[in-house]
Amino acid sequence: MTVKTDPILRRWTLDEVRDLYQQPMMDLVFRAASVHREHHDPNEVQMSSLLSIKTGGCPEDCGYCPQAARYHTDIEENALMTVEQVKTAAERAKGLGSSRLCMGAAWRNVRDDEEFEQVLDLVRTVNGLDMEVCATLGMLTPNQAERLAAAGLYAYNHNLDSSEEYYKEVISTRGYQDRLDTIGNARKAGLTVCSGGIIGMGESIDDRLKMLLTLASLTPQPESVPINALVAVEGTPLEDQQQVNIFEMVRMIAVTRIVMPNCTVRLSAGRTTMSPEGQALCFLAGAGSIFAGDKLLTTPNPEAFEDLEMFNALGLRPTAPYAKGEKPAITEDPGAPGEKTRIKWSRPGHKIERNEAKRK
Ligand code: SF4
Repeated sequence: MTVKTDPILRRWTLDEVRDLYQQPMMDLVFRAASVHREHHDPNEVQMSSLLSIKTGGCPEDCGYCPQAARYHTDIEENALMTVEQVKTAAERAKGLGSSRLCMGAAWRNVRDDEEFEQVLDLVRTVNGLDMEVCATLGMLTPNQAERLAAAGLYAYNHNLDSSEEYYKEVISTRGYQDRLDTIGNARKAGLTVCSGGIIGMGESIDDRLKMLLTLASLTPQPESVPINALVAVEGTPLEDQQQVNIFEMVRMIAVTRIVMPNCTVRLSAGRTTMSPEGQALCFLAGAGSIFAGDKLLTTPNPEAFEDLEMFNALGLRPTAPYAKGEKPAITEDPGAPGEKTRIKWSRPGHKIERNEAKRK
């Protein structure tokens, strides 16, 4: 798979990105829009769909996530979806204009078991529909990444969420380096990388910018960078967080665009509270993708007809699949390793308190 990247990309310092972020909004958006036009078609926005193929019951403690087993949320748990179910959902998403399907499973990490074999089948099936296939399944070993690549996976999503310092405030069951290791494993297997973060979790502006600097320092930089605004879900530790201001989102997208000019910036969670005008400003500042469909894993998202109306009003075109890279061929499955490999807990001694009340 060939991915267009500049051979030499500028290294930014925290002071520089802070200056970028703090400049007057019109100057920042103008600069970001200029970078966007140099590297992308400004009138194309990719529509992607995010499908929760296995919902809830996750042992991790991500403070924003309603799928963590320990939190008291109203999530409906679901076992791993079948090939038929995913195929139907993918065809529907494609029919509504999506060129990419991201499949999410609420797992801490992938295991070399029958469920993973089923996920490989799901990847092959969606690849066969000529959609970009992305997956977000938790931590991966190098062998698992290779098997996903052989099944025709196009991208692996693994978000950094925030700065290394603030990450510990939100998640205690794994470390930042675990995230970077999985991203490295996906990259080594030839997958494109989708990695971004969430704003509005109580972090500082510097935390947001440090996360962007870490992503921008990866070689090569991620091809896809989702920027999410926290959707505060009742029952999670972050349930009382205030909604982020649209201008903070625009600034974040603009800086992402400038420091990672080749990537697709994804205007992700939080769109239900953004007006079409606010979203238009995000597109001007460099956002080149949205998630379509009325659900983002488990949180609400605008209805398809609303997005269609917005696209029509703005004269936007949905991006075709594989516009920025070749379709991966399905090759022979290298198979699971003879000896089982396990990703170790990086935070030994951490106790998982399952949500016993909900279980009962
Ligand atoms: S690992 Fe994923 S599914 Fe599990 S709690 Fe964290 S965000 Fe939710």
